[in-house]
Amino acid sequence: MSKTVIGMDIGGTNLRGALVTPEGRILKQLKIASDADDGIGAVVDNIANLVNELSREGNVAGVGVGIAGVIDSRAGVITQAPNIANVVNYPIRYNLAKKLGGDINIAIENDANCAALGEWWMGAGKDASSLVMITLGTGVGGGIILDGKLWSGADGMGGEVGHMTIYPDGALCNCGNYGCLESYASATAVRRMVKEALAEPGTETVLRDIAPKTDPDDMPEVVMSAALKGDAASIRIWERFGIALGIGMASLVNILNVEMIVLGGGVARAWDMFIGPAKTELKKRGLRAPAERVRVERAKLDGDEGITGAAYLALGGR
Ligand SMILES: [Zn+2]
Repeated sequence: MSKTVIGMDIGGTNLRGALVTPEGRILKQLKIASDADDGIGAVVDNIANLVNELSREGNVAGVGVGIAGVIDSRAGVITQAPNIANVVNYPIRYNLAKKLGGDINIAIENDANCAALGEWWMGAGKDASSLVMITLGTGVGGGIILDGKLWSGADGMGGEVGHMTIYPDGALCNCGNYGCLESYASATAVRRMVKEALAEPGTETVLRDIAPKTDPDDMPEVVMSAALKGDAASIRIWERFGIALGIGMASLVNILNVEMIVLGGGVARAWDMFIGPAKTELKKRGLRAPAERVRVERAKLDGDEGITGAAYLALGGR
């Protein structure tokens, strides 16, 4: 029997796991509540249950787990995880191994790094040996692949492209700094820019009626359809989004000269709205050779990049 592995993505709300072949094919996928508000003990119990459930299908050689936060993958420790209650320096690999028993290989990694590995292994970056994956979601995550290997940094904190400064005097970011990429190119940023647009008394926009009735999670979608219908304020929000992203991408290609930049995450659905200004800015600010040769593409795995990358780690890749 060929050696299958399990790839997992631990979110604040859901825990997703998939049984994956050594060739990267997903055989079966399950999703359960993560119970992250009940603390890491509950999350680990849920991970173990999901592993046992998926293992029934066949011989499992390893488990890879992607988690948002600061992860020390060498030590198998979660240094910090914003979505799980009360987690500081938690030895997840040790505790999960105790629960699962046997000699199963367990790998843990930051979720954005897993997404980068997944897209590089099976998605848009299949033919590239170097790429930066930027995940545009509630925040902005990043992962860097160089010479076919994940660069996770000296402390597991490499690839935090969302906290690259774009505007020194810009909007306050969740990290405490001002003007980070995340403050302009995330769902959170779109919500803020909507508020800013509405605060200008002279601005005529359909958002004035729609925004107050919109669930905050749906705001990027709503601003996207308003922009598609020609609403000038909404178009301007995506332009600002794209310009900030382009400035960030220019810095990335100037420093790393990667073959590809892959854009994923829920907000990447607004691709048509922001990619024009983003590419213009990239060309304008990037050094000519690296900016011209870099391919900027959308992620292909459609939400499965994280579990796919985690599975790659479980197979022993890095
Ligand atoms: Zn920041």
